[in-house]
Amino acid sequence: MNVIICIKRVPDTETHIRVNQTGTDIDTEGVKYVISPYDEFAIEAGLRVKENMEDGEVGLLMIGNSEAQETLRSGLAMGADKATLLRADSYMDGLGIAKALAVELKDSDAQLILFGVKAAGSDQQQVGPMVATLLGISCVTEVSSFEFGEGVVTCQREVEGGIEVIEADLPVVLTITKGEYEPRYASLKGIMAAKRKPLEEREADFSHPGIHIERFSEPTTRGSGCILEDSPDAVAELVRLLREEANAL
Ligand SMILES: Cc1cc2nc3c(=O)[nH]c(=O)nc-3n(C[C@H](O)[C@H](O)[C@H](O)COP(=O)(O)OP(=O)(O)OC[C@H]3O[C@@H](n4cnc5c(N)ncnc54)[C@H](O)[C@@H]3O)c2cc1C
Repeated sequence: MNVIICIKRVPDTETHIRVNQTGTDIDTEGVKYVISPYDEFAIEAGLRVKENMEDGEVGLLMIGNSEAQETLRSGLAMGADKATLLRADSYMDGLGIAKALAVELKDSDAQLILFGVKAAGSDQQQVGPMVATLLGISCVTEVSSFEFGEGVVTCQREVEGGIEVIEADLPVVLTITKGEYEPRYASLKGIMAAKRKPLEEREADFSHPGIHIERFSEPTTRGSGCILEDSPDAVAELVRLLREEANAL
């Protein structure tokens, strides 16, 4: 079975994010980019499908700028067979990303299209379900494990207080949570092999974004606390501070 995994490049979660001078984006100076952690779960899930079925190909698909090739090579090092970078040099909103991915996916023979449940950083949880809608196929979200039957996939979702089991016809879009998909580390052999694996790059089919980021701001810093003296007057002073300064009463 052929599998395609859509992955996004995001700032390393260890990065200290700063807002740029115009307040419209993050300051990308010195930022290291990685595969979104949720997309690593999806890669792990896709690789296990190929290993269990001993058949098929695992492809990676990403929209990003040319530097994103490096991130795709990391996914190839984990074990994917091939990668495609749809190049875009300006911001696209979730619908724009989904449309460009759907154009690429509509003629694909993949029976299984995997996404992370959400992209780390922007967390919009839009792209997977939008791609499924544009392709006219089913989508199961927040899948923690799945297995195949005859022309169907049976998915488990962790819902409040239990597990929900859903069967969906193939082809299908699944958005993956960690569940049992602890991502593997790339081996040295995998890293070397990734350099020779096919990585195609072409222009993304760009649509004008309908959503614009107006402003970014950093969280307000908390003021320092104060310690009251251990005396009977401290109670009255505490009540005054809570009422007049903290506005908590
Ligand atoms: C040149 C460029 C500049 C960008 N600048 C910004 C920016 O300044 N701020 C910002 O927040 N975003 C930026 N993006 C990212 C893009 O706008 C978002 O990917 C898009 O808005 C989707 O929202 P999300 O990341 O919250 O996706 P979600 O809906 O949360 O993503 C869910 C899943 O969809 C898939 N997915 C998401 N994006 C991609 C992708 N690009 N390629 C393949 N699969 C994908 C992944 O599997 C992901 O786990 C930029 C993208 C490009 C190409």
